[in-house]
Amino acid sequence: VSNPPQFILVQFDDSIQASLLPQVRSLLNRRNPNGCPAKGTWYTQVLYSDPFLATQWVAQGHEMGDHSVTHSPPFAGSFEEVDGMRRWAREFAGVTRVTGMRFPFRAYTKESIEMLARMGFEYDSSMSSVHRMWPFTLDHGTVLECFNTPSLCGERLDARGLWEIPMINTRGPQGYHLMDIFNDYSITNPIPPEQVTSTLLSNFNEHYAGNRAPFGVFTHPVWLGPEIPGSIPDGTRKLAAVNEFLDQAMRNPDVWIVTAQQLIAYMRNPVPASQLGSQSYMQCYEAPPTNICNGMSETGVQSCNLPGGGSFRVFETDVDLLWLSSGYSQSTKSSTTKTTRDDAVSCP
Ligand SMILES: [Zn+2]
Repeated sequence: VSNPPQFILVQFDDSIQASLLPQVRSLLNRRNPNGCPAKGTWYTQVLYSDPFLATQWVAQGHEMGDHSVTHSPPFAGSFEEVDGMRRWAREFAGVTRVTGMRFPFRAYTKESIEMLARMGFEYDSSMSSVHRMWPFTLDHGTVLECFNTPSLCGERLDARGLWEIPMINTRGPQGYHLMDIFNDYSITNPIPPEQVTSTLLSNFNEHYAGNRAPFGVFTHPVWLGPEIPGSIPDGTRKLAAVNEFLDQAMRNPDVWIVTAQQLIAYMRNPVPASQLGSQSYMQCYEAPPTNICNGMSETGVQSCNLPGGGSFRVFETDVDLLWLSSGYSQSTKSSTTKTTRDDAVSCP
């Protein structure tokens, strides 16, 4: 179509934890041109994720994608790992609509991509691109993307119906960079915040003035939070820099922050930017006024009916409960933390 919208994907990888939510929410605390709240996608690994928070994330209209159970190579691409995350989402968080996959370390193979299609996934978002490409179907294999990925070039894929949302690299001071560009040159010696903002903006402007391929802000939110002495440097200024970029980018006409699922809905039936706001998948999704505590249904949030509320966190124990093949789960199981957390739920 002519004059397509400019999409921005604000995406997060790895576990959903309470300490990461403030920085994630700050990036998404904005509205699209039709006045509806912006939504993001979190490619979630099971290990260390809090299913209660996962429920709230999806209840607020955001998307949760599959990022395996353990995030450990090479097993994370197996059927058990991929399916185990979806089982966890359904049975621990009550989330039934996990339709996208990002393989940990983007360590996909021909076989694992084909497996996604057989499992009924809607899209994969693991392939890296240095070209500003729109999402494409994998019906006829990949399209010449060989950058730093297992070579599928020229391979025929049996993945009919599966979409690929390529992760488009940002060109930074150190060359192409896929995620967490604010950590260039290194985590401990990053580029200044002003340079983070200007680098993101100059890359974005090339998308916006060019073919308007979706622009990705791909992050591990742990790098955007406060310092964790001894392991994680202070990310406060990095977060401010990314927020400044989003502020400036969103001042342009026809710029929308969407989930990957919303992007796929658009790809199935593209419309000019002027018509996007009236599409069903772009209608306002306001979060329910309270936390919910008995899961989601296909049609939305179910009413809260657990007297006194209740939630639990299961970390390492999930791995056992997800029917992973026993040999591997034994080696990753380091503790059996299970705590009740009634105070976090505000059900009547
Ligand atoms: Zn990851």
